[in-house]
Amino acid sequence: MNRDGLSRTRTYAAGVLALLAFATACGDNGGGGGAAPAASTAGSAAPQPSGGGGTPTAAATTPGAAPAQGDAAAWAKWNLKPLAPAPAPPADKPIKLERTGTVPVFSDVKTTDKVVFITIDDGAEKDPKFVEMLTDLKVPISMFLTKDIVKNDYGYFKPLQALGNHIQNHTVTHPVMSKIPAEKQKSEICEDQSTLTQQYGTAPLLFRPPFGDGANTPTLNNSVQQCGPRAIVLWRESMQIHDMQYQAGDKKLKSGDIILAHFRGPKELKGATMTQMFADLLARIQEQGFSVARLEDYIQAPPS
Ligand SMILES: [Zn+2]
Repeated sequence: MNRDGLSRTRTYAAGVLALLAFATACGDNGGGGGAAPAASTAGSAAPQPSGGGGTPTAAATTPGAAPAQGDAAAWAKWNLKPLAPAPAPPADKPIKLERTGTVPVFSDVKTTDKVVFITIDDGAEKDPKFVEMLTDLKVPISMFLTKDIVKNDYGYFKPLQALGNHIQNHTVTHPVMSKIPAEKQKSEICEDQSTLTQQYGTAPLLFRPPFGDGANTPTLNNSVQQCGPRAIVLWRESMQIHDMQYQAGDKKLKSGDIILAHFRGPKELKGATMTQMFADLLARIQEQGFSVARLEDYIQAPPS
């Protein structure tokens, strides 16, 4: 988490910083539970995401079709073995979201498809080579963007979105949500929601709390409900520089796992680039025999 890194550099010793950047980052905690919190329902307070001013991603995806994948030459260009092609997304979505009420919290998707999902957070590193890489390989990702981290270049993410990738909510300033009052939680989520909707033309359906913090608290659930996202998304694995941290003791990917990565560059990756990190992530997925599917293809949006 670049932003944390930058701000904390001023007050923390370098060693502590390094630990924070790589151990806690969007984090370590958070994971485990797939169960919805036993939150009380906030009733009819949740506004419906409007869909904003059109859906620029629509042209890039065909409903019901498997994501297209780059050809052999594209994979060879990046020195990678091609992933197995993802199967067509299930017609009956494993996760069905409701229009109102408590939002579910999940870190994986119940599926027997041999797929995993890649999510990339924050938005600090804006490496043009990564756009080139995804344009070549067409591996689906979901982007959880933080307003204060992306506002210097909203345009960077538009070609990634044009590939069919969705943009999701990750607050304005990346705070520890359980440490701030409900009203502040709400402004963090609602302002990111309105900004991303305005910038990218479609309202985020999913929310991820920074560090996974507070995900299972009724307070955060209620705050999310009031801003439009209809689910809280955690993760099972966290990509570091060359390998993943696994929550599972056997250190193996499972069908339906959600993987956390970050838009990071050489400063945060000990000299490695965003594309090197992502290539290593794909290699770890490929060697375990998984393909990458689009998370939003396994989630049914609420009925309108
Ligand atoms: Zn984050």
